[in-house]
Amino acid sequence: MAKPIVAIVGRPNVGKSTLFNRIVGARVAIVEDMPGVTRDRLYQDAEWRGREFTLVDTGGLDFAEDVITSQIRKQAELAIKEADVVLFVVDAREGLTAVDEEVARSLRRADKPVLLVANKVEQFDKIPYYEFYQLGLGEPIPVSAAEGLNTGDLLDELVTLLPPQEEDPYPPDTVRIAVIGRPNVGKSSLVNAILGEERVIVSNIPGTTRDAIDSPFERNGKNYVIVDTAGMRRRNRIDLPAERYSVVRALRAIDRCDVVLMVFDATEGVAEQDKKIVGYAHDKGKAVILVVNKWDLIEKDDKTMNKFDKKIREELSFLHYAPTLYISALTKQRLPKVLETVDYVVDEASKRVSTADLNNLIREATQATPPPGDKQRKLKIFYATQGGVKPPTFILFVNEPELMHFSYQRYLENKIRDAYGFEGTPIRFFLRKRD
Ligand code: GDP
Ligand code: GDP
Repeated sequence: MAKPIVAIVGRPNVGKSTLFNRIVGARVAIVEDMPGVTRDRLYQDAEWRGREFTLVDTGGLDFAEDVITSQIRKQAELAIKEADVVLFVVDAREGLTAVDEEVARSLRRADKPVLLVANKVEQFDKIPYYEFYQLGLGEPIPVSAAEGLNTGDLLDELVTLLPPQEEDPYPPDTVRIAVIGRPNVGKSSLVNAILGEERVIVSNIPGTTRDAIDSPFERNGKNYVIVDTAGMRRRNRIDLPAERYSVVRALRAIDRCDVVLMVFDATEGVAEQDKKIVGYAHDKGKAVILVVNKWDLIEKDDKTMNKFDKKIREELSFLHYAPTLYISALTKQRLPKVLETVDYVVDEASKRVSTADLNNLIREATQATPPPGDKQRKLKIFYATQGGVKPPTFILFVNEPELMHFSYQRYLENKIRDAYGFEGTPIRFFLRKRD
């Protein structure tokens, strides 16, 4: 289930990283295999009083500096936009600054629950933090991130602001599958064919969103659930006569899943709407399998599949990593391939590359093709580490993040894929500035 997002923002040096590490606690130290990187982790799951959330360190929001690139600011603004709660950290020892006011203004515009955290307050009576009231973001909460003073109270307050927890009736390692596609491509037929072959646990469990219908089943001792989409509702004859392509429902199903089965009708191909929806899955970091259904209707020779493949690759070039399956839900041709491929891409999306291997790979790649730059400035990649899985996420510590080009990032992605595959899953890069 998607965890709520908590973003930490504030200008540099107020103690964001220190607070981040304080909140995520010992977990970071355990998973990290390289000293000195711990404090630079970009996001990490955390828990307080049984509530789980994902903490994101936006890495600085210095509106005053000219050098701040729009790219970095966009990243921070995006983090704020995506966050459920924002922790806005200020430095009580330095007092209120113009930059704090700038950040506060932008936060008030964002219209999100904000906790104002006055950091570096080791002694309540000695360090005045009341002036931060002026920011118009409520009562400042005094903490010392470094010493862990009052951070428990801060977290108590934080969890009250998290959106209500969604009920998740499934075992934790359940693989969630969303079946997406336009009406009549064969989604219901595919789902019924899959469920017909597998051990269905209960006929239906109410999904987490209103009137959604999930279908849990078991296969080889593993748990799966097909999360609701528009096509599946029709199976229950509760949909409108003129079924629409419910984009919102498709997006919600994507949010709740690990793997998207994007279904096409072999006689029709890819529609504009498909691109948008599967683009959303890509942006959300979900594994994707392209399923070309009704393959039985196609008159084939030995080149048909290649031609079809080429067409799909052209239409959906950003999904170059997604495997394509040619099936028939009707005749059950290659049906077993579907769940086999689901297992495969989930494994791929969960893979971890060791920091040593990753840095060797990056070094070789940058030697073979040096990074972009002009005469004065050249991109330097100092260090790389895998920050997460599902999707595999790589953090690159660089001298100037804005010197990275899309094409060079794509080059690095290809190098990583050549070595480690990661088939079926998008890969993410985060650039962090290091001097
Ligand atoms: P960031 O740039 O906002 O991520 O800030 P850092 O977490 O890197 O901290 C900046 C500096 O403030 C470091 O020298 C920290 O040791 C110091 N610092 C962080 N938290 C506290 C605190 O609670 N009290 C005091 N006195 N110093 C702190
Ligand atoms: P949905 O709206 O995407 O859920 O599509 P349905 O599963 O309801 O299928 C729409 C129509 O396509 C139905 O008449 C199905 O029998 C038919 N259909 C589904 N899969 C296949 C297939 O693989 N081959 C053929 N020939 N027809 C199919």
